[in-house]
Amino acid sequence: MSKKRRNYLFGPVPSRRLGASLGVDLLPHKTCTLDCVYCECGDTTDLTLCRKEYVPVQDILMELGEVLQEGPALDYVTIAGSGEPLLHSRIGEIIDWIKNHFPHYNLAVLTNGTLLQHQEVRTQLNRADLIIPSLDAVTETLFQKINRPHCNLDCREIISGLVQFRREYRGMICLEIFIIPGMNDTPAELEEMRQVISSIKPDRLQLNTLDRTGTEDWVEPAAADELKKCSIMLGGGEIIAGYKPRKIKNKKADSV
Ligand code: SF4
Repeated sequence: MSKKRRNYLFGPVPSRRLGASLGVDLLPHKTCTLDCVYCECGDTTDLTLCRKEYVPVQDILMELGEVLQEGPALDYVTIAGSGEPLLHSRIGEIIDWIKNHFPHYNLAVLTNGTLLQHQEVRTQLNRADLIIPSLDAVTETLFQKINRPHCNLDCREIISGLVQFRREYRGMICLEIFIIPGMNDTPAELEEMRQVISSIKPDRLQLNTLDRTGTEDWVEPAAADELKKCSIMLGGGEIIAGYKPRKIKNKKADSV
């Protein structure tokens, strides 16, 4: 693959979850609806709910075309990067373009799920193969502590958005929960989380914990046995921290 410097693409990187993944970043660093205490990209400098064309679609498609026409060996093209990709108002056009021009590539989108409560956002994701939303808290108090959201976000509305998205979306949903010791790993929180997960009905559930330094230095990684305990209490989530898990295949399987 050409070594030319790219502005919007990174990798391919060996992703723990996805295998060989070509990353697509649709936002200037660091634009997000949340400012999570564990974020490995640093502080959110633009905490916003404003959807717009943060970077020009034409420029992204030009880079994608140049790279993908060389036919690189990839497991996924992954829309992710330095913020919340669903803030890009034309993400649907980018997804459709990739699926129209390079249908043999699997397409994944990593999101914090906060904008899935909006119908127009859910519709834009229709043709992606895999969506990986995160959900770290299901009570408002903990949501404020862990995710430090934009002031107009409401935890219950985000959960409703995830439930509605599951009803409409035909692809695979892999829900990811980031475990922070002393915060979302108490029996009471895990029980509430288990109930919410059973209402969302993701195809798979994955548990993650701190790997690199987060935004706040008091955030610690959960130990392996702690993650196992959380997984059992949540009904069987796969632990993706600290070792190489099975790659997510592009088919519905292993329902939680
Ligand atoms: S949602 Fe993701 S990118 Fe945004 S602050 Fe949280 S961890 Fe960072």
